[in-house]
Amino acid sequence: MHEWALAESVITTVVDEIRLNNIRKVTKVDVMVGELQQIDLEIFRFALENVMKTYELSLESKAIRIAIEKNILRCEVCGKIWSFGDAGCRLGEDEAEAIHFIPEIAHVYIRCPECSSPDFEIVKGRGVWIKTIEGER
Ligand SMILES: [Zn+2]
Repeated sequence: MHEWALAESVITTVVDEIRLNNIRKVTKVDVMVGELQQIDLEIFRFALENVMKTYELSLESKAIRIAIEKNILRCEVCGKIWSFGDAGCRLGEDEAEAIHFIPEIAHVYIRCPECSSPDFEIVKGRGVWIKTIEGER
């Protein structure tokens, strides 16, 4: 159910921003979802639309656009930069499900394709955030 918590935080951010900037009508909200975040986009969109209603936000649901940010990982040992999901490092469904609940577990399953080290930094591809909000005053 963390899609609902994420939707709540996205919508409250939008609400704060439009108050701060005296925006009357929101015309576009670009939401970015990290590829490794593993959220159910259908549930997330549904949650956004419902949370939106409770805040009586003047925003059409089609104004919300969700884009996926591809992941970028950097090996702490050899410095190799790669993307999880590239040829040869796909996850099984069980592993993907485990990462969904405990992102830190990613380090157990994902290893550097160059030196096999499990020590890497997630440079991109995690979290949910708002890239842009556009509106009319
Ligand atoms: Zn490495």
